[in-house]
Amino acid sequence: MNADGSLGARNGVSCGKIEEKMGIHGNATCVLNYDDATGFLIGEENRGLHAMFTMMNVARLGVGLQGYAQSETAYQNAAAYAKDRLQGRSLTGPKNADGPADPIIVHPDVRRMLMDARSFNEGARAFVFWTALYGDLLNKSPDEKVREKAGDYMGLMTPVLKAYLTDKGYQTATNCQQVYGGHGYIEEWGMSQFVRDSRIAMIYEGANGIQGLDLVGRKLAANGGRAIFAFFNELDQFIAEHDDDKDLKPFIEGLKSAKDQLQEGTQWLMANGMSNFDNAGAASHDYLHLFGLTAFAYMWALMAKASLHAKANGGAADPFYDAKLKTGRYFVERVLPETAAHLAKLKTGSQSLMALAADAF
Ligand SMILES: Cc1cc2nc3c(=O)[nH]c(=O)nc-3n(C[C@H](O)[C@H](O)[C@H](O)COP(=O)(O)OP(=O)(O)OC[C@H]3O[C@@H](n4cnc5c(N)ncnc54)[C@H](O)[C@@H]3O)c2cc1C
Repeated sequence: MNADGSLGARNGVSCGKIEEKMGIHGNATCVLNYDDATGFLIGEENRGLHAMFTMMNVARLGVGLQGYAQSETAYQNAAAYAKDRLQGRSLTGPKNADGPADPIIVHPDVRRMLMDARSFNEGARAFVFWTALYGDLLNKSPDEKVREKAGDYMGLMTPVLKAYLTDKGYQTATNCQQVYGGHGYIEEWGMSQFVRDSRIAMIYEGANGIQGLDLVGRKLAANGGRAIFAFFNELDQFIAEHDDDKDLKPFIEGLKSAKDQLQEGTQWLMANGMSNFDNAGAASHDYLHLFGLTAFAYMWALMAKASLHAKANGGAADPFYDAKLKTGRYFVERVLPETAAHLAKLKTGSQSLMALAADAF
């Protein structure tokens, strides 16, 4: 466009090709060619990356939400299929004695896939809302201290939310595909689409490996570690407040164990990451997952507390709260122990990871 608003010569920007992608076919991705194109400065000179990150941080939260959303849809389909598909008999005697076989939801290994999915989805949903609350506080709180804490948390949680929710969201989508057996691999059933669509979320808006580096390289150290120390303080306070609550005990014990391990991993990074940056890079994936698991342990403790409160105050007959507590117990007993493996791996540092010469690959 000319300065006076009239139509100018065409700029040298053209679409070279529409990419053929593994998934997200409803969203066109193209190659853009810039042939002697004229560029226009947006914002201040040399502040482009800074401006881009305003968009990028929002986008990373949105992509984390995609990871959870794909997983939730995959789970809803898998749960319905598991109640419908008849195959084999329950190990503890027929549950559908008049039928030719039992529905596959009676099999413990099918339950494992469904419970992994369900406990992830509900934890992820809580984590998204919890983080969104800090987004609101950051923008709307009249209290400067509250805004500061909210800003610190948003910075710290963004790479965790993006990478943990998309790594696990993809894993859950493939597990839900597995619930379908052979039908999971047949396009007609639609499960392969969730797997294809969820795969991109681990890659775009910064590959998940980069989220791990952002967490250990930038976010932990920002403002002298103010954000991570505030998070540890919040967890310590919650644990101390509920330490003698016998109904909440398994959730508090799980949270305490995860928090202690995250703290140990953080201390290990402080002691070993600065002297050899490869140690920080080697630990970053496991540290991020240890962080995600700890955040989920906190979410489950909060949800268990709310459910127990609701049950004691008129909600005893509502199956919602019982299901919440049972799903939370599953998370604590069968998912949360993964923290120990992540801590053990991250503490090995970069030695065995980097030992092989590049030309040996
Ligand atoms: C469908 C689709 C849509 C997209 N849409 C957009 C868009 O709208 N706008 C846009 O700007 N971009 C877009 N992208 C680009 C996307 O953001 C990048 O592909 C993504 O951030 C990864 O960058 P890369 O492809 O350059 O991978 P690379 O940087 O080459 O990374 C390759 C691998 O190496 C790892 N790696 C790279 N550097 C390091 C490091 N320093 N330390 C450790 N590991 C490292 C990565 O984690 C990754 O596993 C899109 C991509 C796709 C596939």
